[in-house]
Amino acid sequence: MKIGCHGLVWTGTYDADGIRHAVRKTRDAGFDLIEFPIMDPFSFDVATARAALDECGLAATGSLGLDESTDISSEDRSAVRAGEALLDRAVDVLAELGGEHLCGIIYSAMRKYMEPATPQGVANSQAVIGRVAERARQVGIKVSVEVTNRYESNVLNTARQAREFVGKVGDGDVGVHLDTYHMNIEETDMFSPVLDTAELLSYVHIGESHRGYLGTGSVDFDSFFRALDRIGYDGPVVFESFSSAVVSPDLSRMLGIWRNLWSDSDELGAHANAFIRDKFTAIASIGHH
Ligand code: MN
Repeated sequence: MKIGCHGLVWTGTYDADGIRHAVRKTRDAGFDLIEFPIMDPFSFDVATARAALDECGLAATGSLGLDESTDISSEDRSAVRAGEALLDRAVDVLAELGGEHLCGIIYSAMRKYMEPATPQGVANSQAVIGRVAERARQVGIKVSVEVTNRYESNVLNTARQAREFVGKVGDGDVGVHLDTYHMNIEETDMFSPVLDTAELLSYVHIGESHRGYLGTGSVDFDSFFRALDRIGYDGPVVFESFSSAVVSPDLSRMLGIWRNLWSDSDELGAHANAFIRDKFTAIASIGHH
């Protein structure tokens, strides 16, 4: 199992200097893996990222949220086409990085919708995700759809919805990506969604209820980690946190990051790495009971 950190803990600027900084800081905090925000895979500096990963001995994954111009859950064919092209490029970027996972809000735009998703829109999304996942599978990359709260998408807000969604995608081998921050808003508890998606669960985000320091909010992490242990989860477990101290033009405003919940990324990252590893150390002892 690899314990990772989302790149926006370190910087909101993903030019060459930002990439090198984020990768080195992720290593220094003790993580095994960095999740790159690849909102624009067409401009992502793959060569710099690859060199930094090699220097630091880290693995990489990639995530993104689509926008209105690339919304594959819309009924606008040009947006659906643009979204598929963007996701195809994201797969290429990850293949060039040696990454094994593409995840996030890749099945719709990442935004507050004012209407429910339409059946045609969801079908469009499933068709694109199926093709992208099949293409990704051929280069060793797993595609996972992130279940998010109602204010960030209208397509997948619960684990059961995600299970139904990927069940209709066909043979693309699409996984489910759960995030404790979103689960804490939408799910009945922190245990059932993990069991409900057990064999489909392929990616995990660890976020606190306010997206700040782990252990200072209302997320029931103990139940969540016990559930991961119960299903024998072995995929990436990635810390995600946002503060107005680090601003990404593409992400921070959409996610409503208006407050400064931390200012010292080094301390935050090292704390999260220890917090997550300590939970796994403790639950491993359950086998003795
Ligand atoms: Mn997340």
